[in-house]
Amino acid sequence: MSKMEVKTSLLDNMIGVGDMVLIEPLSEDTFIENLRKRFEHNEIYTYIGSVVISMNPYKSLPIYTAEKVEEYRNRNFYELSPHIYALADEAYRSLRDQDKDQCILITGESGAGKTEASKFVMSYVAAVCGKGQEVNKVKEQLLQSNPVLEAFGNAKTVRNDNSSRFGKYMDIEFDFKGDPLGGVISNYLLEKSRVVKQPRGERNFHIFYQLLSGASDDTLKKLKLDRDFSKYNYLSLDSATVNGLDDAACFRTVRNAMQIVGFMEDEVQSVLELVAAVLKLGNLEFKPESRCNGFDESRIKDKNDLKEMCELLGIEQSVLERAFSFRTVEAKMEKVSTTLNVAQAYYARDALAKNLYSRLFSWLVNRINESIKDNSFEQFIINYCNEKLQQIFIELTLREEQEEYIREGIEWTNIEYFNNAIICDLIENNKNGILAMLDEECLRPGTVTDETFLDKLNTVCAEHQHFESRQSKNSKFLTDHSLPHNCFRIQHYAGKVLYRVEGFVDKNNDLLYRDLSQAMYKANHSLIKILFPEGNPAKVNLKRPLTAGFQFRASVGTLMKNLLTKNPNYIRCIKPNDKKAAHIFTDSLVCHQVRYLGLMENVRVRRAGYAFRQAYEPCLERYKMLCKQTWPHWKGPAREGVEVLLKNLQVAAEEFAYGRSKIFIRNPRTLFFLEEKRRQ
Ligand code: ATP
Ligand code: MG
Repeated sequence: MSKMEVKTSLLDNMIGVGDMVLIEPLSEDTFIENLRKRFEHNEIYTYIGSVVISMNPYKSLPIYTAEKVEEYRNRNFYELSPHIYALADEAYRSLRDQDKDQCILITGESGAGKTEASKFVMSYVAAVCGKGQEVNKVKEQLLQSNPVLEAFGNAKTVRNDNSSRFGKYMDIEFDFKGDPLGGVISNYLLEKSRVVKQPRGERNFHIFYQLLSGASDDTLKKLKLDRDFSKYNYLSLDSATVNGLDDAACFRTVRNAMQIVGFMEDEVQSVLELVAAVLKLGNLEFKPESRCNGFDESRIKDKNDLKEMCELLGIEQSVLERAFSFRTVEAKMEKVSTTLNVAQAYYARDALAKNLYSRLFSWLVNRINESIKDNSFEQFIINYCNEKLQQIFIELTLREEQEEYIREGIEWTNIEYFNNAIICDLIENNKNGILAMLDEECLRPGTVTDETFLDKLNTVCAEHQHFESRQSKNSKFLTDHSLPHNCFRIQHYAGKVLYRVEGFVDKNNDLLYRDLSQAMYKANHSLIKILFPEGNPAKVNLKRPLTAGFQFRASVGTLMKNLLTKNPNYIRCIKPNDKKAAHIFTDSLVCHQVRYLGLMENVRVRRAGYAFRQAYEPCLERYKMLCKQTWPHWKGPAREGVEVLLKNLQVAAEEFAYGRSKIFIRNPRTLFFLEEKRRQ
């Protein structure tokens, strides 16, 4: 396409409407109808201004080719039909040319396509940014971190065959030329309970199945493993294989990726030893042995798995055996050893497996960071965090809109919008937020149970609510006597959610008996030692470890601070059906997601002022044929040309505002009027 025919493809040959702000009339029905129509024609991307909505097609589309990359490269956002590449290009160019840090927020429910979207963005950026050996190596490493993290952090769930069970946030740093220097990945809250137990119809993390299916006989022998999934307690049997998923082939991909990222052979071996040890650990079983004092003491039933596990990890068998029979509690400078009963021994076993695996995962992330990280300054972020980001989405969309008006010198009129800060506060407030209360309960001496925690919530939040209601009538903690036993309810942005308190206290404490940490530390295995630093007897510290809730709150806080300093770009992912199927579009399901992602609100914010905006040059190019003075060539500045054009067409003055570089159009109808004229 030559420069002279600059197109606003949003309007040409378009299936449905490419930008939701142009829908007329705007309602939830027309919004969803538009998504459906576009989806049926494989147009999975639609804009709301600069936000990209992405519908999961559940089939591969030929729209991510090298030709497509070239097509979108260095083009204006609205010039071509909506695509995730347009957003990636815009973000990358503002980073490179205007030196503005960027972040890309990808949200949507499980299976909506967030992980796939982040990979498309990464591969686009990798394709358009600098070349050369050094740069290519960095790019390869960044891209290959995906298969490694997915093997250890993703699993088949009912909702998604490749569901990410951890939150990921990735910083990519670029130099002034726009070449990538490296990156940093942060992970949030791996769902470690999956290691020991999986819901019906779901699997453990991919790596376990990949290792058993894909490793050579020789490797398996070294790891003392059997190829048969059914030999392992921690691997659920009802869905051990997933249609269309070749675990063995994936294992080769992962091994290869680990090598590219920079893992040494012996590191890979250590990692696999730990994976094998977790499987062995799951096979330990305990039986009661009656003692003369009347208590039952736990004993390991069959010591073969224990023996093999200890060999893998270089731990003396008697040390671990003892750690599964006793726990030592230190009180007032005194050490008291108590024996474990069978239930406690199982608890300890699972706690160790979860800790081993999740620490291995964090170590992997750090290890990947070491290879891909370069101490540099500029940052570009690909982020990946779910509903938690709703608040920042609302705040930033408004802020961005406001800033553009200021930049362009156009008056801003305030608009009312829903702010979910009150829900966040209910959860994270330092004094009487739910997480703070959970911490307080976990630290309280005496008998602490999930029930005592719930009682406390009910008392404090109800009081809080009372106080709150005088101020704003807006409380989000719903007390209701019809609630099922042991539950509480919160009015989230997306709707009401019922929570069962069972396990809250335990999960927050995340306790690993010290005897086990010490046994791990004693291991003659370099990786294990690093993972359990608190087991070092020289460092015995009576302070309690930080609770899981506290750590999570802190990392979300850091993430938010970080994001607020960047220029946001949004991809909002939607899944069309619950069946993981192509070609099915379920209205009710889409409608639900449109509501909780706040998309209608987003369109309204965008339309509240000026619905459409375009730089002067392309605007003049497109409409100059409508006026004698501007056709075929306008000699002066484009802005004046547009002024002449609009006056000539007698469009009401209040319909426009002239910004510094763009023309702002208040009502989509005006744009349609211009388009209509062009066609005549
Ligand atoms: P979770 O929150 O569970 O991690 P997610 O939002 O990351 O979910 P993905 O894993 O990205 O979801 O997508 C689920 C599946 O949908 C993918 O494995 C892929 O099969 C399909 N899919 C998603 N986006 C696309 C796309 N743009 N083109 C083709 N298939 C896609
Ligand atoms: Mg995912």
